[in-house]
Parts: sequence; C-alpha cells; structure tokens
Amino acid sequence: MSLAGTLAGALLLATTACGADAGTGAAPDGTPRVVAAFYPLQWLTERVGGPDVEVTSLTTPGVEPHDLELGAHQMAQLEDAALTVYIKGVQPAVDEAVSPDTAFDAATAVTTIPVGGHGEHAHEEGEEDHGHEVSYDPHLWLDPSRFATVATRLGERLAAADPAHAQAYKERAAATAASLTALDQEFGQGLTTCSTRAVVTAHGAFGYLADRYKLKQVGITLDPESEPSPARLAEVAELAKREKVTTIFTEKLVSPKVAEVLAGEVGARTAVLDPLESAPSGDYVSAMRDNLKTLQTALGCTHG
Ligand SMILES: [Zn+2]
Repeated sequence: MSLAGTLAGALLLATTACGADAGTGAAPDGTPRVVAAFYPLQWLTERVGGPDVEVTSLTTPGVEPHDLELGAHQMAQLEDAALTVYIKGVQPAVDEAVSPDTAFDAATAVTTIPVGGHGEHAHEEGEEDHGHEVSYDPHLWLDPSRFATVATRLGERLAAADPAHAQAYKERAAATAASLTALDQEFGQGLTTCSTRAVVTAHGAFGYLADRYKLKQVGITLDPESEPSPARLAEVAELAKREKVTTIFTEKLVSPKVAEVLAGEVGARTAVLDPLESAPSGDYVSAMRDNLKTLQTALGCTHG
C-alpha cells in the first residue's frame, strides 16, 4: 500500500472510531448508531438492539457516571446517534446535550419514586442531592421488574426508528424482558424471609430495589463525595443498632471510609453492593445475582 493510502486508511479509521462523520446516525454499512449513556443502559440496548444496531457507551468503564463531562468525542458521538438511551437525572451534562427527537429517556417508561425512597432519607440542610436535577430517584435499573418495562419500551422505540427490523427488536425486547422478570422473581423469593430488612448504604442508590422487595434503604449520604455530618452518622448508627444491622454496604467507585467508620461504631462488617453504574466483571444479570447473594447473607435471609 502507498504511503498516501496508508495515511488515508489511518484517517478513515480515526474518523470512524470517533463517529465524526456526523449527521447520518448510521455506520457506513447503514447500521443505526445508538448511544447508551452508561453501563446498564448499554447492556440493555445491546440485548434489545442485537446485530441491528451499533451500540457505544458515553461513559467509559470505571468512571462515576454522575460526574461525566462531555468532551468533543462524546459530543460527536451524540450528534451522530440515531438514538440516545439515557435516564434524565443521572448525568446533568447528558440531559443538557440530548435532543428530544433522538433520545429515549428510560425514566419516562416506569413509575419513579422520590429521591431517597419514600422520604427515608430526609435532605440535610445544604446537602447536594448527588447532582440530580430531578425530583425523582433516577437509579431505576436496580429494580429488574422496572428494567423489564424499559426493555419493552426500548424495543418499541427502536422498531419505530428502524421499521425494517421492527419484528427483531420486539422479539429481542420480549426475551430481555422475560429474563429480567425471571431475575425479579429470584429476588422476590430470595428476600422473602430475612432477619432484618434495613439496607444501610454509602450513596443511597438502592431505592428502587428497596421499593420493589420491601427493604428499607438507609443512605448515609446521597452524595458519594461528601462526608456525612456527625449528626447524620449518629442518627444512622442508632438506626443500625435498632434494626439489628450486621452489614454496612459499600460500593466499588466510592471510598469505603465512612461505611467502615460506621461499621466499627455499630459492630457490623462491610460488604460491597454494586449499583452497576459502571460495567461489572460479568454482566447486568450476573452482577445483580451477586447483589442478591450479598443481600441474603447480610440480611440473614433464609434461602427459599
Ligand atoms: Zn448514583
């Protein structure tokens, strides 16, 4: 190959990799490009879109999605997407950048709950609510039954955007929804009989899980980066003792320090519960099953 040919090839690769041939919404072979805002939505979109779409994620693995800032690469990705799948309230930068005509907001597909889950966590004076600019809790992917509904709606949305493959989108959406419904049943059965139902977590991402399986989430703080006040810590410690909590939950992307201090104070241990905001080592379903096992052990649930 000539030098010019090599250079042109390299340039073409670079351009394609960044999706800079903006405006078409499709890969060179005509496959629609779909952008997922962060991991659970990427997983869902890949399942429902299958080989009929090209899925990329805006948030790279290991990044706290709430903190995402959009660089030139991500802006180009968004501009060139036939559809962007996101959840309004998770990433303010994404909420601002998407255009309603080419975006699917998963929060519109389900019944949302208030931040903190039914007022369990009253906001402290001056507390930042985790960057969310919406009144509801956006962590809806942590309830598999709601996520099944999102799969169905996403299938309909993709079918409308790409009618030639409508049947395939709807079939894959139905299969994905069925596997999420099965996961929901595992959770329901696995968490029926437990010695405590209080889930004390660092960042309060598990409101939907608590809502669905009648657990009581106690978020130490809603903002993963801020330290709770001594008053809040004392309040949570008191509650943890009253509810016979044996485990304080921490997360991969959040420093375990606060949870460790609290655990030391109430004589509990710590365990990792994955809010799936970033890609797990397995996939959504296997990571949720790990969460279920962790919860069963921590809450003293009898295996049904
Ligand atoms: Zn979060």
